[in-house]
Amino acid sequence: TATHTIVIIGGGAAGIATAASMLKRRPGLDIAIVEPSDTHAYQPGWTMVGGGVFDVATTMRPMASVMPKGVRWVKQAAASFQPESNQVTLADGSTITYEVLIVAPGIRLAWEKIAGLEATLGRNGVTSNYRPDLAPYTWELVQGLKQGRAIFTQPPMPIKCAGAPQKSMYLACDHWRRWGVLKDIAVEFRNAGGVLFGVADYVPALMSYVEKYGIALELGSNLVAVDGPARQATFKTAEGEETVGFDMLHVVPPQVAPQFLADSPLAADTGFTDVDLHTLQHVRYPNVFGLGDAGSMPNAKTAAAARKQAPVVAVNALRQLDGKGPTAGYDGYGSCPLTVERGKIVLAEFAYGGKLAPSFPTWLVDGTKPARLSWMLKADLLPWLYWNGMLKGREWLAGPGGLIAQ
Ligand code: FAD
Repeated sequence: TATHTIVIIGGGAAGIATAASMLKRRPGLDIAIVEPSDTHAYQPGWTMVGGGVFDVATTMRPMASVMPKGVRWVKQAAASFQPESNQVTLADGSTITYEVLIVAPGIRLAWEKIAGLEATLGRNGVTSNYRPDLAPYTWELVQGLKQGRAIFTQPPMPIKCAGAPQKSMYLACDHWRRWGVLKDIAVEFRNAGGVLFGVADYVPALMSYVEKYGIALELGSNLVAVDGPARQATFKTAEGEETVGFDMLHVVPPQVAPQFLADSPLAADTGFTDVDLHTLQHVRYPNVFGLGDAGSMPNAKTAAAARKQAPVVAVNALRQLDGKGPTAGYDGYGSCPLTVERGKIVLAEFAYGGKLAPSFPTWLVDGTKPARLSWMLKADLLPWLYWNGMLKGREWLAGPGGLIAQ
């Protein structure tokens, strides 16, 4: 059995940012990160890959290169949790014990929940920006389509980056408009949910693009099956099932908590890590913290949220080590830069309860309106801040986060 002061499960946006933040606060701290993957992905960049703006290679880096100096990388998957004995069992059957555990394995893309989908992904006009190997195919399809029917789907919540399903659609429509073929393409947005976007203040700006591009909006329409070779998709609606043909289908898969987490004593009913929504401390095990997409908090699951959560966990976890209670609190901040056209973004930023939480004064950027400055932020500044600020624990660059007094 290996032993470390801090064990972090997951070397994604949340796990790496938290380790970096803790080391900035307490250099030399003994941290192990359990992470099976060779590569670390900047997933927010995949929308831009699907829109022909970024090369997918720029969104991926070797995991070794983002591991903070001094951290022990345990290159394996966690398999189960034994919080009563402060222990995690790994995929190879070995165990690791901790004083404080931080749980951040992300959310699982449940492709298998849609019948026939996995067999046809990347072929027959079926794509998804949710996988880096498929996002370039989205752009290929967009460029190739001159007429026909293009369907973009959104599954039931929760999903990571709830705006991403429509971002891919607006960028595609903008391309088709510029090339003069939009009038020959029937575009449909089929969303299992009942609203275009969860925070009402942003809906008018988005609706204006739905109208501008002539998109047919189908709410309460949930993709359940795909027949790739026949180019047919089946949706469940309140009225029953409906099968429609397509020339291009952009799918966002249903998303669930990782199974090993959902099966563990750390899980809430939903399967996610059962934490207090402000302190991010586990509700039953005080030496366990959870953040990122795998957390039970009702925030928008985004890297932007993880950026604000990481320092909160870092502060509270260090206090726990010192035998003290949490002092830092997370306000529910999440952000979703909606790429409504190439060169313009509706910069949604909000906290718990849908309360608007803009990073900039309104005279500079009004998040509820499409803005060029927001596009520059997304295309140039945010990726740089991610790699050089957030993942390095440089909070003066990445922003101190939703640190509110408890
Ligand atoms: P992840 O970054 O997914 O990392 C989870 C890590 O845990 C992975 O490295 C994984 O290998 C590891 N792991 C999994 N299982 C185990 C296990 N059993 N043991 C150990 N490790 C494990 N966010 C934004 O802020 N803005 C955006 O514009 C935006 N757009 C997006 C567009 C797309 C297409 C996608 C897919 C996501 C987007 N996001 C966006 C969301 C953002 O990428 C996530 O919210 C963020 O990555 C969450 O960080 P995380 O660390 O919780 O999960």
